[in-house]
Amino acid sequence: MPTFEEARSLILDSVAPLGRERVPIVAAAGRVLSEDIRSPWNMPLWDNSAMDGYAVRSADCRAPSTLELTGYQAAGGTVAPRVTPGCAVKIMTGSPIPEGCDAVVPFEQTVEEAGFVKILAAVRPREHIRFRGEDVKAGDLIVPAGTVLRPPEISMLASFGRAFVPVYMKVRVAVLSTGDELVELGSPLPPGKIINSNTVSLAAAVEEAGAVPVLLGIAADDKDGLREKIGEGLRADVLVTSAGVSAGDRDFVREVLADLSVEEVFWKLDIKPGRPTAFGMKDGKPVFSLPGNPVSSLVTFEVFVRPALLKMMGHPDPLKPMVKALLKEPIRKKAGKVHFFRVKIDVEDGEYVAWTSGDQNTGILRTMVLANGIAVLPSERTAFNAGEKVDVYLLYQSATPK
Ligand code: AMP
Ligand code: MG
Repeated sequence: MPTFEEARSLILDSVAPLGRERVPIVAAAGRVLSEDIRSPWNMPLWDNSAMDGYAVRSADCRAPSTLELTGYQAAGGTVAPRVTPGCAVKIMTGSPIPEGCDAVVPFEQTVEEAGFVKILAAVRPREHIRFRGEDVKAGDLIVPAGTVLRPPEISMLASFGRAFVPVYMKVRVAVLSTGDELVELGSPLPPGKIINSNTVSLAAAVEEAGAVPVLLGIAADDKDGLREKIGEGLRADVLVTSAGVSAGDRDFVREVLADLSVEEVFWKLDIKPGRPTAFGMKDGKPVFSLPGNPVSSLVTFEVFVRPALLKMMGHPDPLKPMVKALLKEPIRKKAGKVHFFRVKIDVEDGEYVAWTSGDQNTGILRTMVLANGIAVLPSERTAFNAGEKVDVYLLYQSATPK
């Protein structure tokens, strides 16, 4: 049986980026750039004013002086003619510096009167000018392939006129819930049945990872029904099933996957929750069989499925970095399994601190709701003291339940 880390490596080694496409830049946020992008021109394109004020020849202003106003250089307007000695041009931020000028004097350091401007203090050359190419030179690598596009990268690409950007494709993830006890959300709930919540929670997790969920609904615990739904799921890029992978009488998911030539890579891991998790491959497509417990399915999604989806969508570093968090209370566990502990994380004196979010039984969803982190507690350890630092995955970006 592979260890947790080995299982995750097996998964990551099995998958590769899906493909590339060009998308409108407004749709590119959060996507991974698939090609190096170089700047087609200098930025800024021309020397321009960093302030609203007056463009001057600094040689005229070694001391307080008065200059004749010979032009007005508006933002976006035509460029004022060459400025001759003793003259100045009124200029707005971002406007091209007229020929002959080598400095800008902000309004605050001037007094304008009857076609003349008094410069109140000495001016040094190059003051308040943004120079051609000082931000980016033509041909510079502005955003390398493999970058997750955030608003700053979008800004940079847009400022060079990129309306479309090359990115890795989004992964389509089929989500199938299995179990005779399930009814769809919105249907009547007969005695003995429960609502299929995993389809929607896993779909939400798929979306949160930046991929596209394809909802397959419920398959009953019978082989024919499962075969049909799983066959449908294998048309997506990834298939995620929940439940039916334990050792129960009617746990047929693995058998049906095998019938459909899905090659099992592993089944069962020494982890808690998530012991019965199975992973297989068919024609380059990964198939994750997650346990049915709502907590187990979300935790195993987080530690196994999410990194695989990110890798398939071109993320160069699909494993979320762990943070060290200082335990505020002791934790006990049994030896022999890696435990994924639901914890509440906060920041105290600039350091992450962690409390357990409560009952860690896999049947308790409430403590998953209360958690904003998953502490990864090594298999062999049994006792963790208050004050000790543990490894934690921060969940769902900035959520900080109190
Ligand atoms: P199983 O993995 O089939 O043994 O299911 C484990 C537990 O998860 C059982 O209590 C199931 O009723 C529950 N469960 C299975 N599938 C779902 C689902 N789609 N939504 C909510 N609970 C589920
Ligand atoms: Mg079941």
